[in-house]
Amino acid sequence: MKNIIKLAAAFVIIACLSGCLPDEQRNAAGAGKAGKVKMVLADGGKSLAPIIVVSNATPYTRRAVDELAEYIEKTSGAKPEVIEGLPDPVPEHAIWVGYQPKLKELFPKVDFDLKHPEEILIACDGKNLVIAGRDIWDPAGFMLRDKRGKPVEGKQQEYGTINAVYTFLQDYLGVRWLWPGELGEDIIKKDTIAFAPFEYRYHPKIRARSGLLHYSALPGGGYGTSRDWTRQQRLQLSSLEFSGGHAFADWWERFHKEHPDYFALQPDGKRSGFPDPRTVKMCHSNPEVAKQWLKEVEAELTNNPNQTIFSASPNDGWASGHCICETCRAWDHPDGEPRLFHWSGLSQEYVALSDRDVTFANRCAKLLKERYPDKDYYVLMMSYGHSRPAPIKARPDDNVIISCVANFFGRTDLVDRGSTKGVTYKQQYADWAKMVPKLMWRPNTGSPAGWQQGQPDVSITQTIEDFKFVASNKCIGIFIDGVWEHWATHGPQYYVMAQLTWNPDQDGRAILDDYYQRGFGKAAGDIKAYWKFLEETREEFVKGERPYPEVYNKAFFDKAYGFLDRAARAVEKEPEKYGKRVEFFRAGLDWTKLIVEARDLMAKFKKSDGEDKEAEKQVLANWAKMEELCKKHPYAINWGPCRPQTPRMAGLHPDHIKKEKKGKPQKKSAQDNI
Ligand SMILES: [Zn+2]
Repeated sequence: MKNIIKLAAAFVIIACLSGCLPDEQRNAAGAGKAGKVKMVLADGGKSLAPIIVVSNATPYTRRAVDELAEYIEKTSGAKPEVIEGLPDPVPEHAIWVGYQPKLKELFPKVDFDLKHPEEILIACDGKNLVIAGRDIWDPAGFMLRDKRGKPVEGKQQEYGTINAVYTFLQDYLGVRWLWPGELGEDIIKKDTIAFAPFEYRYHPKIRARSGLLHYSALPGGGYGTSRDWTRQQRLQLSSLEFSGGHAFADWWERFHKEHPDYFALQPDGKRSGFPDPRTVKMCHSNPEVAKQWLKEVEAELTNNPNQTIFSASPNDGWASGHCICETCRAWDHPDGEPRLFHWSGLSQEYVALSDRDVTFANRCAKLLKERYPDKDYYVLMMSYGHSRPAPIKARPDDNVIISCVANFFGRTDLVDRGSTKGVTYKQQYADWAKMVPKLMWRPNTGSPAGWQQGQPDVSITQTIEDFKFVASNKCIGIFIDGVWEHWATHGPQYYVMAQLTWNPDQDGRAILDDYYQRGFGKAAGDIKAYWKFLEETREEFVKGERPYPEVYNKAFFDKAYGFLDRAARAVEKEPEKYGKRVEFFRAGLDWTKLIVEARDLMAKFKKSDGEDKEAEKQVLANWAKMEELCKKHPYAINWGPCRPQTPRMAGLHPDHIKKEKKGKPQKKSAQDNI
């Protein structure tokens, strides 16, 4: 509490600094004389530079300091002392974390005015090292409760310093977080840690990153098991958040009696709320709708002063119930792609609604700007359903972000099933990119080759290309629905996704070569070949030439286990961690085999109408092994979303069939939808 009071006194752009030093003081700092002298952080098991941080650091900056000290110790055997506040006298050498005014004196040539969102700065002059970044927070929103009532402490709008620390740990100290947990962490032990003078600056252009693994985003809850990892990969603490999807889900309930005019006019002349209260559509051209939307924004800001993005996207049920009033239709463009729409008792083609949705978003954006002229607030409009094609004439205003539900993640050539012209999702993204200031990419993954069931549905090559494609096409945020955190069957794919989200200019192949080398040493080649084989097999299945059991057959498993056996032999005499990591991937392959067998057994069980007791016994034995495997390797396969009761595993456990027999309809079977 004390800390928060202190912080409240300083609403804050920590990294933007004022207060020029007198010239003589500047010169006396002497950083320019550093030349090529190396700064030694630790040597021979001794720390030679303490860490200095301001005394009222935010919780995340303080956390970064502790982790920095911990990893310097893990690397060198020496834990640096942590000094809070400005010591007097200042030590000859120190690691300065976060900005404080003394730094301007110590580093007279370094510009501490960080102009870009989330900008980080790491610099060494041979005497001192600074690791800092743009930290911004609003005291009113520093301690919050989320929608579920969970406390969120230390909430910032930008978390530059902690992301700078993780960048330092990875790029300068050589730490790798290959996957969550101890086994995924790789440290190179060094007797000496020393740096010649350098200066490094960076700011990520993808500013909404926490949705990459959204189950491990803050404040947590649900299926996420990888929160530390996502923070260390600089995903979790990003500066833009996707807030909500469909904006009007509770409007029918709240307003339909007093304001029936808010809602879409149907062909029968009524504003009946078709198709249902949660997916009802609005009469977008009614000015009162946008005014009420702004009132909702005001209320959201009271609840969460950190929010900067406000959704104005239509409710789900994207083909149904859109307003046919004359004014709304005047917002549509006659050259829009024809799409099939539904109203009560009527289905017919009509033009795409992209022009209408953008016009509405712009109306909201103008109100938002008028109400909050000094704030950097945005309206979020989803390009989804019948607004997937880019608009013909309407153009989003600068404070409108288009969130493109373009489902080409892992399916680069997938055609939008609602398109009457056979346009791919990727083309739709590209079309929007030509005309908007900012895009977010929000693909649904589906489960092309068992992505949801923890099978190795890896599309590494394609994913690298697609991440680079979106990054070079206006992308400021990525949200993937969803990444299930199955590390033993998707490890390198998740890793390269995280790395490219932070910095998409990196070479994806080089990132992976480093991953294999650091993770597996002498087995790197076999492990790389293993993942290449998994990727090729998945591609073959997704192309649809052979059914799942024929692709993931005995020959597949023999070959896949062969790679892992060779890898295990290659590291037999190497440090234990390498062999353990091979076993971790083997757990993923074991899971895959158990699932493939379960599919086969369940097909028999279903065919027998639940009478084949032998098949039932065997499939239950497989489930027992699967549960055991998840207990032994908690990060290998995420048990939460893969428990037999979950909809993702429908059809893979006898209970689903038994319930069906009792007349309880089950969700679509995983057998039908891989
Ligand atoms: Zn209307």
